[in-house]
Amino acid sequence: MALIVQKYGGTSVGSVEKIEAVADKIGRFRDAGDDIVVVVSAMSGETNRLTSMAQEIMAYPTPREMDVLLSTGEQVTIALLSMALEKRGYAACSFTGGQVKILTCETHNKARIREIDGSNIHAQLDLGKVVVVAGFQGVDENGNITTLGRGGSDTTAVAIAAALKADECQIYTDVKGVYTTDPRVVDDARLLSSITFEEMLELASLGTKVLQIRAVEFAGKYKVPLRVLSSFEDGPGTLISLEENTDMEDPTIAGIAFERDEAKLTVAGVPDVPGVAYEVIGPVSAAGIEVDVIVQNAAADGTNDITFTVKRSESERAKEILDKVRESLGAREVVMDKKVGKVSLVGVGMRSHAGIAAKMFKVLSDESINIQIITTSEIKISVVIEEKYLELAVRALHSEFELGESEPQS
Ligand code: ASP
Ligand code: MG
Repeated sequence: MALIVQKYGGTSVGSVEKIEAVADKIGRFRDAGDDIVVVVSAMSGETNRLTSMAQEIMAYPTPREMDVLLSTGEQVTIALLSMALEKRGYAACSFTGGQVKILTCETHNKARIREIDGSNIHAQLDLGKVVVVAGFQGVDENGNITTLGRGGSDTTAVAIAAALKADECQIYTDVKGVYTTDPRVVDDARLLSSITFEEMLELASLGTKVLQIRAVEFAGKYKVPLRVLSSFEDGPGTLISLEENTDMEDPTIAGIAFERDEAKLTVAGVPDVPGVAYEVIGPVSAAGIEVDVIVQNAAADGTNDITFTVKRSESERAKEILDKVRESLGAREVVMDKKVGKVSLVGVGMRSHAGIAAKMFKVLSDESINIQIITTSEIKISVVIEEKYLELAVRALHSEFELGESEPQS
């Protein structure tokens, strides 16, 4: 008998019918003798609906009241799911975040979990009940309702699994698991049976949107075995685990992530003196613009070029800031290219294999794709290229590195 924490996202509980299907699924685990704690999101679209009602009243709703409002979405689904379980003869008990005592900091709308008291959950499990907990919410020291930020139910599930020392935390979603790359771009993309936390973190931050990054960090830190799987189809999904625990035949590359809609900005001819990188990047970041790849190359004439990428939607704002910076620094010019994208190879096996970068560059060269920027970390190589070649690059790399479904897996 195992203790399993299961999280069902908004699409999995998006209607009464779907909630009933989730109850059937949970019932099968109970029949097998497992103890189950379920964490649910609000019905799909509900958090957005509540947000837009608030915004009809005020553009920047009071943060405390926003949390009181948004937390109701999950309160609906815990009650309905508990009823659906009871109807099937499975004893169940719902808990809001406050009723569990998921203690968070006081920062409304993006609170961080401090501590979870597992005693209320344990008491109900001991009575043989399925415990159904509202995701995304907690309570601060003064009893105020808080929420954890969009997508926060993943984090609730992982935190509860850590607090209860559960055997596994299962995240049920609308995809079968984590793929070698986006199946919408590469038909042949393969479902990974396992991946390490490190790789998942890289993929998650590089634009593979399966899991909230915070949840992956949390699971890695507290060593919670995490599995992503489909609520609608049976299958083993993808296990996210510690490197030493995986028994996979360490393929050098775990996956390929890519990001469209980026823009590249270069401040050319900045003086080669201390403080200049700060003067360029500082104001951009202070404006709340997320800066991605940053490179500086040294020109021979005592000046440098600083290049970085941002989301395309923020590029005009960044350009305006840089035009001012250019004047005050006496830099030569600011150049913007709004049509770039980024492709990244990720894999812990890369650490010990020379030649991955060379192979990647060869593949791109064979396709006559020009590489504009190259950056690397221990387990990742990223290139920035012209956006129109992005999908071509992903397909060519996926095939050359033999990541596909049709490749023999040792
Ligand atoms: N309902 C919240 C949201 O839509 C939390 C979640 O689904 O994880 O962001
Ligand atoms: Mg969600």
